[in-house]
Amino acid sequence: MHEPAIRSFQQALGAEHVLVGDAATSRYSACTLPVRRRLAAVVRPSTVEQVQEVVRIAGANGVPLYPISTGNNWGYGSAQPLRDDNVIVDLGRMNRILDINNELAYVVLEPGVTQRQLYEHLKAEGIPLALNPTGAGPDCSILGNTLERGFGIGPNGDHFLAQCGMEVVLGNGEILRTGFGHYANAKATYVYKWGVGPYLDGIFTQSNYGIVTKMGVWLAPVPDAFEACYFMCNREEQLGPVIDALRELLFNGIFRGPVNLLHRNRVLIMLGRYPWEAMNGKTPLSDDVASRLAAQKRIGMWNGVGALSGSAVQVRAAKQTIRQALRGKTDRVTFLSATRLRALQRFPRALSVITGMNVPELLKTLENSYGMMQGIPSDVALSLAYWRNRRPPATLSGRNPAQDHCGLMWFAPIIPMTNRDVGAFRSIIEPILSRHGFETCITLTAVNERCFDCTLPLLYDLDNPAEVAHAQTCYQELLQACRAEGYLPYRLGLQSMDGETSRDDVFWRVVTTLKQALDPAGILAPGRYTR
Ligand code: ADP
Repeated sequence: MHEPAIRSFQQALGAEHVLVGDAATSRYSACTLPVRRRLAAVVRPSTVEQVQEVVRIAGANGVPLYPISTGNNWGYGSAQPLRDDNVIVDLGRMNRILDINNELAYVVLEPGVTQRQLYEHLKAEGIPLALNPTGAGPDCSILGNTLERGFGIGPNGDHFLAQCGMEVVLGNGEILRTGFGHYANAKATYVYKWGVGPYLDGIFTQSNYGIVTKMGVWLAPVPDAFEACYFMCNREEQLGPVIDALRELLFNGIFRGPVNLLHRNRVLIMLGRYPWEAMNGKTPLSDDVASRLAAQKRIGMWNGVGALSGSAVQVRAAKQTIRQALRGKTDRVTFLSATRLRALQRFPRALSVITGMNVPELLKTLENSYGMMQGIPSDVALSLAYWRNRRPPATLSGRNPAQDHCGLMWFAPIIPMTNRDVGAFRSIIEPILSRHGFETCITLTAVNERCFDCTLPLLYDLDNPAEVAHAQTCYQELLQACRAEGYLPYRLGLQSMDGETSRDDVFWRVVTTLKQALDPAGILAPGRYTR
């Protein structure tokens, strides 16, 4: 398959950077979805010139390419293309941090730069800037997640909002620079998003119009003062008033970065594996067992977490405002400073007795979530992928759900930030989940003041065909039922793109027209967010 092109790729990149055959490419086939594409090859360019060359060769030979940055994209398709016989363009070797501006707080980076790499670099150089880590773990690409319009829990939450300036290789091999980037010597390329004329950056996210080879990303200056805020409700009825209070706090700019509201079950799946024994092998987790586990670990029915930062005076005032706003609506509001966290770490047992909290358990999530809100990447959220994995822990890396054969499929609709909408949405999803044997383990992330990004992982045993089939049907039912009521996902997995893009409406027709204009040969990621 594609032999002449493969020979040309080898000449352009060196044979060692062109992988052919199942053994050489198997790591790109690992996926948390029950999908396995036939791969033609993997090419690993290391410069933008090599990317241009790869695109020209592909164009001349009619070979479809599928670009990835680190190719993790857990729960949405990992590194797998939409169609068989694509050549994966792995941009992992393009991992240069090209520029960091301390004063204006931005970085210019290549696709292969991971969260860990940027964090370590900032630390080693003593640069007082923080990134905005996602829950996907330290070894994921910053640029890849931005192109998927993902979000982090650090300062600047929504990744695409903090993106500024792109370099893109188009389907004909030409380089496009967005914003002011196409003017020689432009001074404001990485500080002003819009440039002059039509704003193009957005069309290169969740699309297949180009290969992005460089991007500016805004970082956050490390603040003078920082504290994390944790709050907890034991009863479902408290959620509505908390949502109203939260919206007001967000509109008043009290929190820095997104606030997360985690359902009890979401915390449980992050902290351990499925209690097969207690459940006698049955799924989903019963309310009884969930309540018992939650009581042991002192987890509320709803658990909130957000960050406060700024000057010491601002943080003090924010704490006071939050206490007032949440008074009578929650069972506990706690603020955690670095000093307090150190005390918890030194005397966990003593503090358990004094505070009545299960401090050792609490620390497992606290330390990591505390760090993440300050820009320290962690794999704390990644552990949820292992919930229903029945393989013995000793055979698992714990850090790569796809290689570890975990079953994870994300459903992530956007819900307006009202109790009415959250209630309507839950009444749609809960019966569907329980019919298919899945827990309602949602997090509501306030990605801005007006909406929640609801992340719902369908977690299944990838070794169990019956569970896999349930996950697939369940996802489709969730998608259809939520769409019917107006709740749409912010991002699609491999299994759901064709269903959306083939819908006959003006939007998807325009998307196709743009594709034809920008990549007439159709060689870039065919099927990805376009028909
Ligand atoms: P991560 O490993 O951080 O989850 P990925 O590298 O898997 O990110 O990227 C997510 C998706 O975004 C990929 O499947 C691919 O379709 C698209 N993508 C990633 N990097 C690029 C890029 N540099 N140019 C174009 N599309 C990309």
